[in-house]
Amino acid sequence: MTDPKKYYEIEFIYSDNGQLFNTGARMTEEEQLKMLRILEQFHNAGAIEQASVVQPSEIQQDYDAAVGEILDALKDEVTDGDDVSECQNCKREWPDSVLINPIPDLMERVAPGEPMPSGECPGCGAVCQPVPKEDGD
Ligand SMILES: [Zn+2]
Repeated sequence: MTDPKKYYEIEFIYSDNGQLFNTGARMTEEEQLKMLRILEQFHNAGAIEQASVVQPSEIQQDYDAAVGEILDALKDEVTDGDDVSECQNCKREWPDSVLINPIPDLMERVAPGEPMPSGECPGCGAVCQPVPKEDGD
């Protein structure tokens, strides 16, 4: 009986420079176990960290996690000298440069006396308010 091949993603981080290695391969379950053993050995030898062999369906993170990861990865790229706003709904902080502006239906979405929003959250579509700078003076 042949073991059907499935697609797996193989990932690890080089211990010396922190670089991510990542590839995909079609393997049987037995081959996958062998691959895991190989990676474990490299890991024990101190060559790699965070090795994993997983089917893509198992590593697909949910939307919130993916958004958080993207924000973390890109925040420094776009916040240089830019203001930051917080979404009033999902509470994420966004650089103002990625907010959606002009805000659709702005007048229907701001109650009288409420501060003017700085833009619409690209993550959930609610309005965002500027985050006061920590050391303004
Ligand atoms: Zn939001």
